Amino acid sequence: MRSLCLVALFLTAGSFHAFSQNGGGDLPKLEKFDASLVDKSKDACTDFYQYTCSKWIAAHPIPPDMPETRVDLSLYLYNQTILRNAMEKAAANPQASGSERQIADFWRSCMDEPGRKANGKAWIESHLKVVDSLKSKKDLARVLAYLHMNFPAVWQSDDNSAKVPLFGFGPTQDLADASKMVAGIDQGGMALPSLDYYLDSADRSEEMRTKYVAHVQKMFQLLGDAAEKASAEAKTVMEIETALAKASMDNVSRRDPQKIYNKRTLAQIKTAVPDFDWDDYFKRIGASSVPFYIVSTPGFLDAVETQIKTRPLDDWKTYLRWWTIRRGAAYAGTDMEQANFDFFGTAISGTPQMLPLWRRCVNSADNFLGEALGQAYVSIAFPPESKQRANELATGIRQALTDEIKQLDWMGAETKKQALVKQDSTLQKIGYPDKWRDYSNVKISPSNYLANMNAANAFELHRQLNKIGKPIDRTEWAMTPATINAYEDPQMNTINFPAGILQLPFFSGKQEDASNYGGIGMIIGHEAIHGFDDQGRKFDEKGNLRDWWTAEDAKRYEEKDKCIVDQYSQEIPEYAVKQKGELTAGEDTADNGGIHMAMLALEKRYRSQGKSLDTPEADGLTARQRFFLSYAFSWCSDVRPEAARDQVMSNPHSLPRFRVNRPLSNLPEFQQAFGCKAGQPMVHYPSCRVW
Ligand SMILES: [Zn+2]
Repeated sequence: MRSLCLVALFLTAGSFHAFSQNGGGDLPKLEKFDASLVDKSKDACTDFYQYTCSKWIAAHPIPPDMPETRVDLSLYLYNQTILRNAMEKAAANPQASGSERQIADFWRSCMDEPGRKANGKAWIESHLKVVDSLKSKKDLARVLAYLHMNFPAVWQSDDNSAKVPLFGFGPTQDLADASKMVAGIDQGGMALPSLDYYLDSADRSEEMRTKYVAHVQKMFQLLGDAAEKASAEAKTVMEIETALAKASMDNVSRRDPQKIYNKRTLAQIKTAVPDFDWDDYFKRIGASSVPFYIVSTPGFLDAVETQIKTRPLDDWKTYLRWWTIRRGAAYAGTDMEQANFDFFGTAISGTPQMLPLWRRCVNSADNFLGEALGQAYVSIAFPPESKQRANELATGIRQALTDEIKQLDWMGAETKKQALVKQDSTLQKIGYPDKWRDYSNVKISPSNYLANMNAANAFELHRQLNKIGKPIDRTEWAMTPATINAYEDPQMNTINFPAGILQLPFFSGKQEDASNYGGIGMIIGHEAIHGFDDQGRKFDEKGNLRDWWTAEDAKRYEEKDKCIVDQYSQEIPEYAVKQKGELTAGEDTADNGGIHMAMLALEKRYRSQGKSLDTPEADGLTARQRFFLSYAFSWCSDVRPEAARDQVMSNPHSLPRFRVNRPLSNLPEFQQAFGCKAGQPMVHYPSCRVW
């Protein structure tokens, strides 16, 4: 149920234009910074991002099936090709058994388009039959539990809500006792990405609401409903979702762990929502006899009650039918899949085309059987030497943070002591799990993709709910090995770097240090700082929500962080949206501290080798300049305006150009390296620094 701090986030899955849709997969060439990429016609001190990226961006237009172009798209394709090749190889082996047989059969079933169409239609119809069997409001619990068990993924919330009907339910760590998993209920039931879409008064949001209602109507018509009926149904869906949105907590408030920690007994939940049969719901989903529940938004439950009480049964059938289409459409291989993409892909993110089938199938296999595939990925793309070098790099960067904490002038001795205990207790995980997940109970058919999705989903739901009431497992991974991303988990007190991101343009086991430290080094620093950002600092070394700061130091922290919040709270006129500095504060603080820690670690490494970061090297750049350029290069991207606006409203990460220019404009060492002077845009006044 917790949302993770992701460093790099693909807005949606996408593809690369030059890759052939059929036939075998040669691995694409990975991007790597080199000095010839710099645009000398631009001024490094005016806009360092443009200075580094404009040539690359001009040469790499946004692919039609992506919401953005970015330097690591070639890595995305590279990782996907490795997974595809592994599944094709397995599929070609008649003797394949165990997990090899599973990935072979999953691949076959997914690539079988006619089979998907037939099964998809049957899948949606069988779920609709259950919805149609809804007899009374008391019966809502039965139908909702059925849908929650059959749709991915009731246990997973994003920064805004759970994307399942009515509410999310799953395991979460107890904030007061992080050694245990407990049950959590989260706000949900809204298909649009964030509350702003429902409630914001901007013209563009108004327009999106009109488009959304038209989309829901279209989907009902595709089911066979007449236009007039479908139009009324779409209005009902919008009314219910808007009522839920009004009672939901906004994404800025959700960053405050205290606000989302509301312990409730079953009796209290029943009192709040008497018109829902909670006993039946928990029994069916397999989570009875839970001592208490963490409710993220108590007011949300009140809205659930009001909606259940006041709306006729037919409205609930309509609402649940809509969610059945919404969740089934992406897998159904019918015109619904296209219509679903037209709204959620094109209208929301501006992406004209769907991914080719093979890439959707790779993503699906990675999602459902990720650790089975991950073994194949690691054996090809992440040799032991890479793991060792990445581990050393991470250890060095974390040491830089330890050194920095010790000599901070704004933090008192008492708080420092606690901070160092937390820092020492952080578990650093590199590449892939020590113990692979066992999928042997998941029955995979070579001919029924939807059945496979259900089987994998049921396995994962069972695995998730099974955690409730048990001790935590810090060795578990929340991302698959081929993922281009990383995360810090404040409650587990871990930092995690999948093998998928330990590749170029971020890292190579064979690359010189300055480029590795500017690329992956900054990301490692970023995740380490998350343990000490506006959210992370509220958790102690065991992951408990406990205030270990003296009042004075907490006040100083907040003043320093306010500088960053103000710096990032800016209008972005080209997307008609204002960045919410409070939403992005944690990520921005981690970016600022991350690049600083990576630089300190690189300086120390150079010193230990008797070298200077400021001596020009063979390519005419100093190592310090190459460090900053590699950092900026690894974030080169161009985002479609629709996707950019969606990101600013819904996502706690700043847009890539701000992730480069703003931290560097706070860093005197950057300004010295490129000769930037006070008054120039890359010299921010005041210079903000927390870490
Ligand atoms: Zn982050």
